[in-house]
Amino acid sequence: MHDRPAPPEAFTVTPIGVIESDFPDKFGIPRQPGLADTARASLVLLPPFDDPLTVRGLEAFSHLWLTFVFHQSPERWTPLVRPPRLGGNARVGVFASRSTHRPNRLGLSLVELVDIDTADGVRLALRGADLVSGTPVLDLKPYLPWAESRPEARAGFAPEAPPTLAVGFSPAAETVLARREDGDSLRELIREVLAQDPRPAYRRGAEERVYGMRLRDVDVRFQARTDAAGETRLEVVEIVTM
Ligand code: SAH
Repeated sequence: MHDRPAPPEAFTVTPIGVIESDFPDKFGIPRQPGLADTARASLVLLPPFDDPLTVRGLEAFSHLWLTFVFHQSPERWTPLVRPPRLGGNARVGVFASRSTHRPNRLGLSLVELVDIDTADGVRLALRGADLVSGTPVLDLKPYLPWAESRPEARAGFAPEAPPTLAVGFSPAAETVLARREDGDSLRELIREVLAQDPRPAYRRGAEERVYGMRLRDVDVRFQARTDAAGETRLEVVEIVTM
């Protein structure tokens, strides 16, 4: 038997910033970053990390790693989880998954850096974030493609991007979009998000059900429709301003 080293002590970490995003709720957010590029998100640094010196030179990098806390997930975790990609029934180890229900609730996302604003504190504009508004961020660091991009890597039960669904808009939904200044980008955002099929894996097939998903300041109500050829698409029934 080896003598085991004493277990390390617990660490205390402090958020360096907080996310403001187009996603007021967890439900509907794409399950990985880079899947809804129209989604706006900012990382607002908190004192004392909001000194512009902390980001000097960062503008020369196009992509960042964010380490954050899944603060809206329960602290409780289990050794086995059911990834949506496996249909919501088959189980894999929590460490074989990107589940948000994990020890320490740490998340990791690769996002695009669009802009750095240091006029009043530090605000980083991001593209492709998969983070709910209010997410506490623990660290950010630049992405190094020569070391960290491994296209030959095996990716287990998620070998490629999931298939996407076609998305339609009812006349009522189009009327709401037409009246909004951000109508075109909101339409595109809704399309990107619904194309990922946010319905829980185990619910798919419950066709009559109308789902609600919040994006920006609206509640998007949508429903699955199956056409004559058996193709499922998601139809935006109505868009309600909150
Ligand atoms: N790229 C990250 C996230 C994967 S899970 C990683 O691999 O670590 C992505 C899901 O996390 C999203 O669909 C969203 O529903 C959920 N999510 C985003 N921010 C969250 C938060 N602050 N708390 C709990 N869940 C969150």
